[in-house]
Amino acid sequence: MRTDPNRTSTFPLTGVRNLGILAHVDAGKTTLTERILYATGTTHKRGEVHDGTTVTDFDPQERDRGITIFAAAVSCTWDGHRINLIDTPGHVDFADEVERSLRVLDGAVAVFDGVAGVEPQSESVWRQADRHGVPRIAFVNKMDRAGADLDAAVASIRDRLHPVPLVVQLPIGAEDAFTGVVDLLRLRALVWTGDDVEHLPVPEALRDEANRRRRLLEEAVAELHPAALEEFVAESTVSARTLTSALRDLTRTGEAVVVLCGSAYRNRGVEPLLDAVAAYLPSPLDLPPVRGADGDERTADPAGPFAALVFKVNATGTGRLTYLRVYSGTIHKGGTVLDPGTGRVERVARILRVQADRHESVDVAAAGDIVAVVGLKSARAGTTLCAPDAPLVLEPPVVATPVVSVA
Ligand code: GDP
Repeated sequence: MRTDPNRTSTFPLTGVRNLGILAHVDAGKTTLTERILYATGTTHKRGEVHDGTTVTDFDPQERDRGITIFAAAVSCTWDGHRINLIDTPGHVDFADEVERSLRVLDGAVAVFDGVAGVEPQSESVWRQADRHGVPRIAFVNKMDRAGADLDAAVASIRDRLHPVPLVVQLPIGAEDAFTGVVDLLRLRALVWTGDDVEHLPVPEALRDEANRRRRLLEEAVAELHPAALEEFVAESTVSARTLTSALRDLTRTGEAVVVLCGSAYRNRGVEPLLDAVAAYLPSPLDLPPVRGADGDERTADPAGPFAALVFKVNATGTGRLTYLRVYSGTIHKGGTVLDPGTGRVERVARILRVQADRHESVDVAAAGDIVAVVGLKSARAGTTLCAPDAPLVLEPPVVATPVVSVA
């Protein structure tokens, strides 16, 4: 039997990233999700979207339609972090599902097509994420495609979505010859050969351009961040360390959006993206407390009273899976939870950490985590679950303007 090192312990909360991937349909969200699972060792077989073997799109209806209809939550680990990947549909017909998943995630990667840049649906999902105050990193995908242009994509992000884009990479090679990126913070090259990434000095031919772009990044960050400005003035440069912490602050307050690039399809750019998720996006501890409808607040404290939000319910061969985001306290296998809406107290038969189409039983789930519970009969998406002796109904979500259906 496989043993889960986290089976009885909870993961350090500072290392948890509840992450969503937001994109226009076809931008490459499914492919990127697949590559993330591969890079983090969650899957060992690379699924391809076109042959219907991807891990997140495991619902047959999704395979048939080729679009992500049902959100799936997938846990993986990267460099001491647990990343709970909450799949969000990119198709405008499923705005409600996007809305529900936006409510439970703490940060997102917005994926753009390197040729098309910002597309209408990326714009509507971006606005929804704005309304929920979800900090974001941008990933300009498909850099291997003919006509892919990072600068043009960044210009469309700036012009149509209006964040301050902070580009932290310079592509190495273009289109078919896109082989890697220069990390502008560390001024090192990352070059992919097959699935392996090598860390190399910046190629001679790109050195001046990399230095110029690093300078632009320093100036842009100094303009927004006091510590970076102080260093820039005193030393006429900003260290990678200061840039990293400034970028983290600016991402979390939503003042700027870090931009990376790559090709999900060719498995290029995934590792630095995961590093950026770990470095810049917030953990549950970095977020303000959630509020109950009666003004009661709950912080991300595993020792506090249990409160969670159901964001998806799935009937599967394993039983009725109730996916929930725990905001405070801890639930135990065999314990009870209250649905304050109906007054029903139900028993938690099993707690599962969901790895797409596989499930791993765990004994507890604590504040900040995303798990699926077996044994609950009545909870629906949007239901609050809480400790029977500490009733609380989480505040209703921010209501987004529905996007226009294309049906
Ligand atoms: P989603 O609709 O956003 O989930 O997008 P998919 O992951 O299904 O990708 C849409 C299409 O774009 C598929 O045919 C992918 O193979 C293709 N694709 C995804 N990423 C890349 C990439 O980096 N480069 C190229 N050339 N094609 C890609």
